[in-house]
Amino acid sequence: MIAYAAHGPGWPGLLFFLGLGLLIAIGLILSGNRGRADLLLRVARHVGGTVVDDGWWRESEIRFRIAGRDAVLGFFNGTRHQRPWSRVSVSLGGLAPGTLHVLEDGFGQSFLKLFGAQDLEIGDAAFDRDYVVKATPESYAARVFAPERRAEVVRTVRSLRGLADPTFDVTPPQLTVTVRRFLRDEPAMLALIHAAREFVGYVLQEAPPPGMVFGEVTAAAGACPVCGTGLKDRVVRCEQCRTPHHRECWAYMGRCSTYACRGTAAR
Ligand SMILES: [Zn+2]
Ligand SMILES: [Zn+2]
Repeated sequence: MIAYAAHGPGWPGLLFFLGLGLLIAIGLILSGNRGRADLLLRVARHVGGTVVDDGWWRESEIRFRIAGRDAVLGFFNGTRHQRPWSRVSVSLGGLAPGTLHVLEDGFGQSFLKLFGAQDLEIGDAAFDRDYVVKATPESYAARVFAPERRAEVVRTVRSLRGLADPTFDVTPPQLTVTVRRFLRDEPAMLALIHAAREFVGYVLQEAPPPGMVFGEVTAAAGACPVCGTGLKDRVVRCEQCRTPHHRECWAYMGRCSTYACRGTAAR
């Protein structure tokens, strides 16, 4: 008894505190997951979608519809080598007649080099100063940013300004709107969905009539699905669906660009 008093609580006491600590830690993790599950449910209900839970090792995602097309809001929490992201992808099924990328000035330098000296201006001085626009073919950018809807498109793109490096990426298989942050709040998630909904409207207005499917032609010609230019060297393949990408394009997108493919690793 004397030794017990002199040396603190002793083994039984130590085990008790360790156990208590463990229980508190597990409780915190579970309540954190619960909070996120509730958040995703609220967002899903807001857009008439469903939460898809693919197991504890994967982030849940929200599947819903935009303009009658399949859409998904997905998340990636990042690793030591990859930035986190949150993104909305909308399936276009090869409907877009090319690729189009809109980035904030200063972001994605190694990706942008693939387009050489291409410098597209859409005719709005402030926007052209703040953003970089790339397209294959070049004329596709002018069509999406056509004068009659330019102000609307600019407003949609600017609506995500301030979120971490937002980009709008149109490829034949899908439209993707990405921010490089793991979103944890409802307003930001809804803003992302809203921007994707508006942008897909502009893309669909510029889609070619049925029968002309540029995307399939491009894929057959061996072009990269992200930038739409030829794939000769610097090629990596998605570990899940084997689709080839330029190394830079893979790094820029942070994952596979096949719609609904969840591949986040390539070699
Ligand atoms: Zn590429
Ligand atoms: Zn893939």
